[in-house]
Parts: sequence; C-alpha cells; structure tokens
Amino acid sequence: MSKLYKLGVVGDPIEHSLSPFIHSRFSRETNINIEYLPFKVKQDDFAPFVSEFFKDSLSKGLNITLPHKKNASMLDGVISKEAKYINAVNTIVKDEKKIFLYSTDGVGFIDDIKNKGFMFEDNKILIIGAGGAAESILYTVAHNKPKEITLYNRTIEKAEKLCRKYSHISKTESVLDHNSPYDIVINSSSAGLTGEFRPIEELNISKSTIFYDLNYSLTETPFCKWAKGISNNVYDGIGMLVHQAAHSYNMWFGIFPDTNKVIQDIEDMRG
Ligand code: NDP
Repeated sequence: MSKLYKLGVVGDPIEHSLSPFIHSRFSRETNINIEYLPFKVKQDDFAPFVSEFFKDSLSKGLNITLPHKKNASMLDGVISKEAKYINAVNTIVKDEKKIFLYSTDGVGFIDDIKNKGFMFEDNKILIIGAGGAAESILYTVAHNKPKEITLYNRTIEKAEKLCRKYSHISKTESVLDHNSPYDIVINSSSAGLTGEFRPIEELNISKSTIFYDLNYSLTETPFCKWAKGISNNVYDGIGMLVHQAAHSYNMWFGIFPDTNKVIQDIEDMRG
C-alpha cells in the first residue's frame, strides 16, 4: 500500500453522496491508500474550509458538489479553460504549492454516453433545464458536432441566455422544435427532487430516441419512469457520476480506474 492521501467531497446536503463509495472502490482496485470523506459545509464557510483542508500535507484533492461549484471556480488557483468558461469546478487537485481547478462533469457525461454506444455528432439534442449541470453538459455536447441543441427550461430567460453564450459553437434554440424527432433527450432539471416533475407535452420523438436523466437514485427517478413508458433506451445519471469520479481520480493519481465494475456494484445495490 502507498502512503495515505486525504480526499473528500464538499457539499450541502452531502449525507446521501455516493462519491465516498465510488472512490473507495477505485482505491481498492488501484491499491492506493486514500481517506475520502463527505464534508457538509455551508456556503459562507466554503473558501475557509478549502484553505484549512489543504494545510494538511496529506491532503491531495477535493470533489465539489451543490451548492459550491460556482464558488469553487472563484478560488485562488489555476483553473482549466472549460471550468473557467462554465464558471463551475467539481475537482480540486493540490500539488506542493498550488491548487488546480477542473470540471469533470461534462467529460464524465460524454464518456458515459459513448460507453452506452451513442454519440452526438449530427444528432438533434434536447436538454431540459438550464442550471449548472445543464451548462456543464452543454459545453461538451456543443463541442461534439450535434446537428442542433434545444435548451428547454421552466424559466425561459435562463435558457435564452445559455443559448446566446453557446451559439458560436453550435446551433442552439430555447423553444421546442417539432419538425423532426429528437435523437437524445437529456434531463438536467431537478424537477421531481425539487417540486413536481411534469412531462413535456407534444414532444417530437421516435422509437429510437434516447432518454438520459442526469439525476439518479437507488429507486427509479420520475423522469426515467415517464420515459420508460415511451422508449427502451432510458438511462439515469449513475454512469455519469462514476465517470466524472474516475476523471477526478485520474487527475489526482494519474490512473484511470475501471468504471464498469463500480457501475455494476451500484446496479447490484439497486437490485
Ligand atoms: P441547478 O439548481 O443549477 O438547476 C436546476 C434546474 O432544474 C433549473 O433549470 C431549474 O429551472 C430546474 N427545476 C428545478 N425545479 C423544477 C421544477 N419543479 N420544474 C421545472 N424545472 C425545475 O441544479 P444543477 O443544474 O446543478 O443540477 C441539476 C440536477 O443534475 C441535480 O438534481 C443534480 O443531482 C444532477 N446532477 C447529476 C450529476 C451526475 O453526475 N449524474 C452531476 C451534476 C448534477 P429554473 O431555472 O426555472 O429554476
């Protein structure tokens, strides 16, 4: 076994995070000795917490989750081009002197989609929601040559703003297009967790449309339950969660762990 490295995930709430489980599996597989803890930290305490955490010479890195991703992008560190553009950081890496700030959500999402045998190139994409998660995937989807992207959100102004920001990279719209079926429908809205989930009516889809919910739980999410009434291609966000974690792990230790094994472990827990 190697020396001990201290890691963790910072959020609020954090009690139900699967990240400690995922990283303990990666640690076992790669034979790297880690202590990965969940830290419940309030908004105002975020920056002081990070600074205190990294005073320990054993501290190697952190994952950042709701509601701190934007705050983390304002920390004093070396930020990646992507994290700076989307104003969100979910991974901090520390070397002897500096901290480095990254977002692995977008690449985690793309990896999972590719792992499932799908791609974005020339496809018509619908993203529901226009919050932080929507932008992290919009960045990578827009860079993967889709035919067009519709960003559909309860508060249309937020969708319009994001569409303007990404219109130089890809064709983006904030109103539903009924002319041809969507190839991939992605739910990045937290409806169902915060407030009631209401399916979109009059959606142009085909039998082969893929439905992907960024949300996940050990039971079926409301979006997946609805989508399964329409299509056999329905997935929740567990795969993305495991892939973004694997990218963080790779940034800390230079080793990309086996994601399929951990996804299978979680599927087994769901029964
Ligand atoms: P935000 O709070 O930034 O955005 C929430 C989005 O959901 C907004 O677009 C909001 O619309 C919409 N929304 C919330 N409640 C409702 C409702 N009742 N009806 C319709 N729309 C609603 O959250 P994030 O974008 O950061 O996260 C969204 C989800 O993605 C979370 O549940 C999170 O767990 C998940 N996620 C999963 C990841 C994974 O690895 N699988 C990674 C990151 C996030 P409005 O603008 O109108 O308020």
